[in-house]
Amino acid sequence: MAITKRQAAELAKQAFEYAPAPEATDHVRIQPRYGLFVGGRMQEPHSKKRFPTINPATEQKLAEVAEADAVDVGRAVDAADKAFASWSRMAPSRRSRYLFRISRLIQERARELAVVETMDGGKPIKESRDVDVPLSAAHFFYYAGWADKLEWAFPNRRHRPLGVAGQVIPWNFPLLMLSWKIAPALAAGNTVVLKPAETTPLSALLFAEICQQAELPPGVVNIITGAGKTGSLLVSHPGVKKVAFTGSTEVGKLIQRSLAGTGKRLTLELGGKAANIVFEDAPLDQAVEGIVNGIYFNQGHVCCAGSRLLVQESIAKPLLEKLKQRVSTLRLGDPLDKNTDIGAINSKAQLEKIQGLVDSGVEEGAELFQPECKIPERGYWFPPTIFTNVSQSYRIAREEIFGPVLSVLTFRTPAEAVEKANNTPYGLSAGVWTDKGSRILWMAERMRAGVVWANTFNRFDPTSPFGGYKESGYGREGGVHGLLPYLELS
Ligand code: NAD
Repeated sequence: MAITKRQAAELAKQAFEYAPAPEATDHVRIQPRYGLFVGGRMQEPHSKKRFPTINPATEQKLAEVAEADAVDVGRAVDAADKAFASWSRMAPSRRSRYLFRISRLIQERARELAVVETMDGGKPIKESRDVDVPLSAAHFFYYAGWADKLEWAFPNRRHRPLGVAGQVIPWNFPLLMLSWKIAPALAAGNTVVLKPAETTPLSALLFAEICQQAELPPGVVNIITGAGKTGSLLVSHPGVKKVAFTGSTEVGKLIQRSLAGTGKRLTLELGGKAANIVFEDAPLDQAVEGIVNGIYFNQGHVCCAGSRLLVQESIAKPLLEKLKQRVSTLRLGDPLDKNTDIGAINSKAQLEKIQGLVDSGVEEGAELFQPECKIPERGYWFPPTIFTNVSQSYRIAREEIFGPVLSVLTFRTPAEAVEKANNTPYGLSAGVWTDKGSRILWMAERMRAGVVWANTFNRFDPTSPFGGYKESGYGREGGVHGLLPYLELS
């Protein structure tokens, strides 16, 4: 393509220079050691084991968190079970008030939550501040509204909560995924035991404080920390009546297998390999912004990331030129700096996975473009990457990379675009860029994806259901649909 690495470096130099604008951290109190939040208070783990959680941008230890063993998981499930008796019978309008209070407290502590999310996970502060935290508050606010209106949500049906929900979440949107899980479960009258991912436990532990501040009855929310083993103990505990899992397809399949025949309800929100499709009549500059947001938002650690760009052949050259120019102006660096576009990769393991898949792309014959950018000496970083000359059979076009890596393919006709977009085991999301409303509808009808964005990408709203087809899982979170997995209707 026309733009060379040297030209990209020139462009990067021409971009506005900003003075450093780091967000302050002095208002944040991270404790050196955390226990498990069980029965409304922090408890020492029975396991007596702890593990460190680090800042991926500096590799510095932030805190030691507890590793829950089988006894700890049992205690948390028992606490949730005990709380279920009164929580499920509480007047729904009172439940609703607790949820409103939590939403309000998230807003009040927004700055602290955003900083902790960025320090523990590596995402740019402008994203945790403007996306993760406000959307988390909005989720609680939205489901607070449903808590006392379930008979209107499901007219002429009797509804009953299920009991204890065991919830396991990943590291890419820790507080937001917690909110997607806890808010509908509580609104429907269930109690929960939630396990955050091992690399990002801190915002969930701050959320435990918020539950105390909101005077939520003890045991309604329990937060246990640990890695895969703890997650597996939680989902297989016989006291858990409903399992909600967000994470990799591989672990999702394991859980599905282990729960077969137990009668437990299960929802799975798994991986993705979304197509972002740009037609020749699309407004190119807006499309470029949408492509950048689609794949470089949160370093590409997004299940619904637009990781496969499908471009109509006639505009491939000008679009890619614009895209490379734009990517050359992205700022990679300190996630706490308000001007940073691309933060740190969440963990060393994830960085190695991204590097491995990028190496495979080069070996298989794709053409790599990375703008010149200064990689900090410490921490885990990966520059924004574009692959052209990609064939559908390459691993970078088939496998979820979960990093800032875009694979570009081309098409000639709408039918070919649909064929290529659906040529994946996943089915979580897709994007269509075109001037024609009729084409948007034509494409949306044919694409096997839970969400199809038109002339935008990565837009989330608590009122809108989100979830996948095929290996992206099943069940929906968000909207009225998000209540269904937590209720028995008769
Ligand atoms: P992961 O599957 O490795 O881990 C997810 C969570 O499951 C973690 O808390 C982990 O400790 C736990 N876990 C691991 N093994 C387990 C087991 N055997 N039993 C129970 N729990 C277990 O995934 P990850 O690397 O943390 O997250 C990235 C993945 O999550 C990506 O594939 C991404 O697409 C997916 N994701 C999906 C959505 C969605 O809504 N569809 C949203 C965010 C992330």
